[in-house]
Amino acid sequence: MNIIFLGPPGAGKGTQAQVICQKLGIPQISTGDMLRAAISAQTETGLKAKAYMDKGQLVPDEVVIDIVRERLTKEDCKPGYILDGFPRTVEQAKALATFAKIDAAVNLDVADEVLVARLSGRRVCPLCGAPYHVDRLNGSKICKVDATPLIQRDDDKPETVLNRLQVYHQKTAPLIDYYAGEGILCNITGSGSPEEISAEIIKTLEAIA
Ligand code: AMP
Ligand code: ZN
Repeated sequence: MNIIFLGPPGAGKGTQAQVICQKLGIPQISTGDMLRAAISAQTETGLKAKAYMDKGQLVPDEVVIDIVRERLTKEDCKPGYILDGFPRTVEQAKALATFAKIDAAVNLDVADEVLVARLSGRRVCPLCGAPYHVDRLNGSKICKVDATPLIQRDDDKPETVLNRLQVYHQKTAPLIDYYAGEGILCNITGSGSPEEISAEIIKTLEAIA
């Protein structure tokens, strides 16, 4: 199955995409992770993207569309994939439809108040990208996978978080109606525990598989 994960920043897209990808044995394609990798590698794309990301704004459509189009041609995408954080605009969704057939758009629905708390408590592993929350780390400051010290993303700092939520409501939320219109929207209440939400997503995907 080719699946999209929609939802505001902090809804748990990355966490859930990772769990579901492992379960289905398909790759997780995160445009945010790919852009951060491009920044670390100081590629031309990375340099272009950084200024937008630091401000909590979206990277221009043509930049991310090219990255995703290229990524989806790779062999590992043949059995299916989860797009995590793409599309984020209706323009991106329309472009995606020209080179991919999407089976399900999973929308994680979470209230803004909850998102601010989640984003400001989020920590990530700079090596493998695994996401954590301070509330569930029990004081640990290292990655469970590779013991790398965790960091806070620059764009999870309070001044940028509100900006990202505003951008979400303006540019990305219209995708909910877009995919409802396509008949492939799966709405999931994203306010339970990560385990409860995973179970709900799996149940929903099994129902349409
Ligand atoms: P994420 O890791 O998904 O929260 O993405 C982090 C940042 O990368 C976003 O705030 C955007 O600046 C940029 N980004 C990631 N995916 C996209 C996308 N599909 N379109 C535009 N910008 C994106
Ligand atoms: Zn790690």
